[in-house]
Amino acid sequence: MDFDFQHCIRCTICVANCPVFKVNPEFPGPKQAGPDAERFRSDHEASIDKWIRLCSQCKRCEVACPYGVNPAQIILREQVRYGEGHFRPLASRVFANNYWLGTVNSIIAPLVNMLTPLKFIKRVLNVFGISTYIPFPQYRVHSMNRSWRWKGRRKNRKKVVVRDLLASLGLRVIIPKQVCCGLPALGNGDVETARKFARKNARILAGYIDRGYDVIYTCTSCGLVLTQDYPGILNAPDGKKISENTYNLHEYVLKLMEDHYIEPVFEPFHRKVAYHIPCHLRASGIGYPAARLLEKIPGLEIHILEDNCCGLSGSYGFKRSNEETSAKLGITSERAIKDVDPDILMSDCGACRMQLEHFSGIPGFDPSEILVKSLKNFKAGK
Ligand code: SF4
Ligand code: SF4
Repeated sequence: MDFDFQHCIRCTICVANCPVFKVNPEFPGPKQAGPDAERFRSDHEASIDKWIRLCSQCKRCEVACPYGVNPAQIILREQVRYGEGHFRPLASRVFANNYWLGTVNSIIAPLVNMLTPLKFIKRVLNVFGISTYIPFPQYRVHSMNRSWRWKGRRKNRKKVVVRDLLASLGLRVIIPKQVCCGLPALGNGDVETARKFARKNARILAGYIDRGYDVIYTCTSCGLVLTQDYPGILNAPDGKKISENTYNLHEYVLKLMEDHYIEPVFEPFHRKVAYHIPCHLRASGIGYPAARLLEKIPGLEIHILEDNCCGLSGSYGFKRSNEETSAKLGITSERAIKDVDPDILMSDCGACRMQLEHFSGIPGFDPSEILVKSLKNFKAGK
């Protein structure tokens, strides 16, 4: 793929927008790590720039660049090359296989949830390069996939809110058997594992698209991988087809409303909301559809916070080597939230919410959770 690094005019706009560059002096920034260094790289020589791993792949540099250069893509390719040529630390290997980790941990969820907050366990994890400055996510035995199959025995309604939301709007919802989108593997330098996941998902999703289904995502990072990296660096079969038929949940609901296909009625919901925009939503280039949707709720006061990266960036902040960078960015975001003095926090990304809830102490919600609270006659699925 041609990343057009030669179009870079060294204006440094991307550097001014790079959150990691602002807080970590060891990272030279997107211009130097991307187009500048690319001029001297050769596929025949090993990658030697260790600092390349400091980029969190937030992609703010790409959104900012006015000349169509893709510094984050250039850096990602070099991160992959670096990962192929060097021993990858244990933490990177663990997070690259996050899907399997999550699968096992959800089966033994009560035990994992009991052990991970213990000081002794945290010390052990630290030794292996895993950061514990924010609490680990809580695993659930009744994961979304299993709750679908075990319907009637679900204990927690919150996690199936998206399926129920779409179903209540009259849409037929299928949750196909699927694996991880591949982002954790890609972000941890294991492109082969990422491609395996992408190939498997692509086969399944393309089959549904051929039968007339649209693909909906809720996580903005997964969505970015499906729409940009499947046809790009992951070179998934039918990647273009998937990219063209995949939609952000709120973008999709909004479009159905604008086409008068659905006409939901919203009841007042009186709250002041700080809406943290995930970096990967900005990078998706679809605007902020959840904000446009939630503007229709009477009484809801939304303050959009788009200038800050939360710093967690998926597994990036869970590595000890990135802990300080991640925490500094988390604190900056927290200050912006506190300036708004909101009742609640909102973000489309579960990882952003984890980080910001930790630093601000304010409860975080997905936009869909707020949407269903306001939807008149909303009925959860049986
Ligand atoms: S992707 Fe984010 S962290 Fe990486 S260089 Fe671009 S702006 Fe900086
Ligand atoms: S990559 Fe784009 S924003 Fe960054 S220095 Fe080059 S032209 Fe400017």
